[in-house]
Order: sequence, then structure tokens, then C-alpha cells
Amino acid sequence: MKITDHIKEANGKTLFSFEIIPPKKGNNIQELYNNIDPLMEFKPPFIDVTTSREEYVYIDKGNGLLDRKITRMRPGTVGICAAIKHKYDVDTVPHVLCGGFSKEETEYVLVDCHYLGIDNVMALRGDAMSHQKYFEPNKDGNHYAKDLVSQIQDLNCGKYLHEVVEASNKSDFCIGVAGYPEKHLESPSLQTDLKRLKEKVDAGADYVVTQMFFDNQKYFEFVAAAKNAGINVPIIPGIKPIAVKRHLQLLPQVFKIDLPEPLIIAIEDCSNNKAVRQVGIEWAIQQSKELLAAGVPVLHYYSMGKSDNVQAIATELF
Ligand code: FAD
Repeated sequence: MKITDHIKEANGKTLFSFEIIPPKKGNNIQELYNNIDPLMEFKPPFIDVTTSREEYVYIDKGNGLLDRKITRMRPGTVGICAAIKHKYDVDTVPHVLCGGFSKEETEYVLVDCHYLGIDNVMALRGDAMSHQKYFEPNKDGNHYAKDLVSQIQDLNCGKYLHEVVEASNKSDFCIGVAGYPEKHLESPSLQTDLKRLKEKVDAGADYVVTQMFFDNQKYFEFVAAAKNAGINVPIIPGIKPIAVKRHLQLLPQVFKIDLPEPLIIAIEDCSNNKAVRQVGIEWAIQQSKELLAAGVPVLHYYSMGKSDNVQAIATELF
């Protein structure tokens, strides 16, 4: 079922959903199930599964800066979506990237998704690779997420890359795209970034999921500005509970987002990461309560593989 239909069916009630990352290459999928199991009692109508081309570990250089070391990518997004959908009878949303894929390879991924009964895809550009200064699309690949949205829409109309077919069983993907309450890090301004978001929606995106933010005011202002810019699709807030002290440096550096001063102070006061995790949970609960009261369509959590903190948050709210 489409995310937009889940939202309509909920009739104003806020839904709970979360995002997972595939296990590391060679790891058992059971680990993933062990993290999903405790969250199923909160009845997520959908679960997102990320795609990564490169993965980083961040090493503290001791001077307040972080060094980035590449580890390995995590394949398996579509397979995991199929496995979870089958095991839990829940909709899954594979993240599909422009970067690293030709349009033809993307078409194969989408055809697989369609055969597997996956109704939703999240269309993303992806980041620059570590050896690149700027994002470079693949030769024959999509450049911007908007181009990927157009490719998916073409497929929904039976327009494959090399043929137009009178398909008896056309795909009808519901398409999600990313939005940035504090603007995308490469964008010159929030206003320009909103124009780009509008282009994605005009190309056929059905809903938006936001980058993490820690000050709800940023989300509320973003939603208002998006409406002003003529963006009328649901904008789902993405919430990340802070989990380790290193996030204090990492999140502003990597995502160019602000952390509110009281959150910074509370984390700095923690003597270990167990205490930081608790601060992260409490902050996310407060954020979520306010967003619930504002009637957001879905509260979407970035679980990053370990679900105990998302479970603690959901227990308070759902
Ligand atoms: P786009 O919408 O294409 O925008 C990228 C930049 O280009 C922006 O600065 C935009 O303003 C600008 N731009 C857009 N169109 C034009 C144009 N025509 N001319 C000039 N500039 C333009 N990354 C992963 O690798 N895997 C994931 O699974 C993943 N999941 C994510 C989920 C969410 C909810 C979010 C918010 C992000 C996710 N990302 C993921 C990160 C994402 O890939 C990066 O933020 C990436 O840098 C931008 O992707 P985008 O789809 O927003 O790109």
C-alpha cells in the first residue's frame, strides 16, 4: 500500500515508522530482525531501508575535528525490503540512489521492486564519494533526485528506457524524496533548496521525509515555507535520537545542522555514552510530543541498526 494511502487511512492520527540500515556484509539478517521485533508492537505501516555506496567511521583527531575513514558499503537493500515485507507483513521502502548507478541499473532495481510487490520508493541523489570533491553522477546515470523521480514516473507510465510497453501490470510507485529544514549542505540558501524540492514534487514525488533536526521550530518554519512555495504533499519529520557523545561534532560537521544549546550542555554533562543515550531519548520524546500535538502525519525515526532507544521513545508516545 502507498505511504500516501496509509496517511489518508490514518485520518489525522500520527503514524509511527522507522528507517533501518542493512547489516554489514556477511552478517546474519537475524540481528536485524532482533532490532525490528520490539518495534512491531507500535504497528509501523512502513519501514525504510537505506542504500549506501560507501560507509564511514569517524575518528576523533583530538582537536575537536573528525577524520573520516571509509569502510565498506552495505548491499542488500531490495532483498531486505522483500524479506521484511514477507516476515512482518509491513510495507517497506527501499532507498534508491542516483549516484553509483546507470539509469539501466536503476530500471532493473525498480522492476525487481515491482515484482516483489513493493509499492513505495525513496528517490535520492546520494552523496559525493570520498575521493570526489563534488557529487558526480554515473555516466548514463541520473544527476539529481528530480531526474530519478522522472525515471520512476516514466516507469509508472510504462515508459522503459528502450521501449514503451502497453503493460498489463504497470508499476504505480509512490515516491518519497528528501527535504532539508536547515537546507541541503550544498545549497546556497534555504529558498533555493525549496525551489529544488518543488521541482522534485512537480516531477512526481508524493511525499517528503526530512533530514534530522533537533529544534522543532526549524521543521515548522520549513513546512510553512514549503506550503508558501506551493509544495502540498505530506512532509514527514525525521527524528534521530542522539546516541553517543561524538554526535556533538559529527552531526553539525557532516549534515550542517544546528544542535540547540540546552541539548549540547546536557550531552556535555554526561559522563558516559549510556547517559548520552538517555539524554537522546528524552530529547526525542519532547520533540515528538510537540510534533504529535501539531498533527504531523508520521513520526519517522532514524534507528541506525539499534532499536532500544526508538523503542523507549515509542513506548512513551504510541
Ligand atoms: P537532490 O534533491 O538532487 O539535491 C542535491 C543538491 O543539489 C541540493 O543542494 C539541491 O539544492 C541541488 N539541486 C537539485 N537540483 C538541482 C539543479 N537542477 N541544479 C543545481 N542544483 C540542484 N543517502 C544515501 O546515500 N543513502 C540513503 O539511503 C539516504 N537516505 C536518506 C534519507 C533521507 C530522509 C534524507 C534526508 C537523506 C538521505 N540520504 C541518503 C542523503 C542524501 O543522499 C544526501 O543528502 C544527498 O547529498 C542529497 O540527496 P537529495 O536526494 O536530497 O538530492
